[in-house]
Amino acid sequence: MDKNLTSFIDIASDSDFSIHNLPYGIFSETEDGKRRAGVAIGEHVLDLSALETEGLLTLEGGPYFDQPTLNPFIESGRDNWATARKTIQTLLSTNSKDLGDNQNLQKQALFKQADVTMHLPVHVPGYTDFYSSKEHATNVGTIFRDPNNALLPNWKEMPVGYNGRASTVIVSGTDVVRPSGQLKPHADKRPIFSPCQRLDFELETAFIVGQPNKIGQPIAMENAWDHIFGMVLLNDWSARDIQKWEYVPLGPFNAKTFASEISPWIVTLDALEPFKTSCPTQDPEPLSYLSEKKADNSFDITLSVELLPKNADSVTVLCETNFKYMYWSMAQQLTHHTITGCKVEVGDLMGSGTISGPTPDTFGSMLELAWNATKPVELSNGETRTFIEDGDTVIMKGHAIKDDIRVGFGEVRGKILPALEFNFSD
Ligand code: MN
Repeated sequence: MDKNLTSFIDIASDSDFSIHNLPYGIFSETEDGKRRAGVAIGEHVLDLSALETEGLLTLEGGPYFDQPTLNPFIESGRDNWATARKTIQTLLSTNSKDLGDNQNLQKQALFKQADVTMHLPVHVPGYTDFYSSKEHATNVGTIFRDPNNALLPNWKEMPVGYNGRASTVIVSGTDVVRPSGQLKPHADKRPIFSPCQRLDFELETAFIVGQPNKIGQPIAMENAWDHIFGMVLLNDWSARDIQKWEYVPLGPFNAKTFASEISPWIVTLDALEPFKTSCPTQDPEPLSYLSEKKADNSFDITLSVELLPKNADSVTVLCETNFKYMYWSMAQQLTHHTITGCKVEVGDLMGSGTISGPTPDTFGSMLELAWNATKPVELSNGETRTFIEDGDTVIMKGHAIKDDIRVGFGEVRGKILPALEFNFSD
């Protein structure tokens, strides 16, 4: 990483989108306008399709960026990822003649982020959510089962996960209707059909699969990192009361399938490279197929959640945590996912699981922050919350900093709308 690298574009020192980041997204100038690929730089989006048209960003097998998803570019492989990053970084640098000195091209290719609409960056063929924060799994086990045996016996042996619903992955800014379903508020009575009364967020990241495997051929640990393109923030919206009633014996179903909301910019592993750190020590040592030789298998990424109630003029910060608390690495998650021969596809979304840290201010869900509704959380406007209410907006942010260099994710923001009204004859 060249610390002295600067851009001809003015970028605030606290911007997530420095010249060291260059995350990829899909944007359009109007809501229904033509979708194409861009990178975020400061407060701007750089239109990559315009650079391709000008002949300034020529990749093997391209063009790739005049497309409504990033899948074709990602699928084209790691050599193209590296060439694209280097070329874009050079074009945006202070001494760039091709773009920095070309006002006409800047007019065509640079847009204010505030003026464009962001879309899902990839077509997501499959979505899996893991459960890889030990603190989160321990908290949930303590709340719902047994404080003395909070972690189930399999948890430290493998990255536990479930297959989610790719069709309900949505991009930041999409409103979410409160789900309705079966709840069982009274142990000795039958369930009821009702709007969810315990709506929650889950603070997560997710990685985007960059290279597929063949069915029947697992991805080995030593190759797993090469199959990962980048990361996004993920709010895995969860209906706790639906979940509690439905999850035995097959795990989450309707409680998790109404909205999984992601940030629009994919931050590449290349951009996150300077912020590497290690996962917590794994004890017992994993079985050999999950054994990871490299020590720097995680990233130091600060994550936070803010709540903006309806009509409030300021947010309340609910928690601040860090990706480095994750017990299992992304490579271990991917290897375990494919160990039976399961095929993963380019664009597959792999959620980390709720990321909680060791102290109560680092818990990544309302379930934990308000400890199963027993400790209401106070908001800056005087209200309290045990779960999320209609009109609430939840905002998640994430960034990494080292030596004054900042690489961030921006945000994932979602607002809860009231439940639908159902008219059943029974
Ligand atoms: Mn989750």
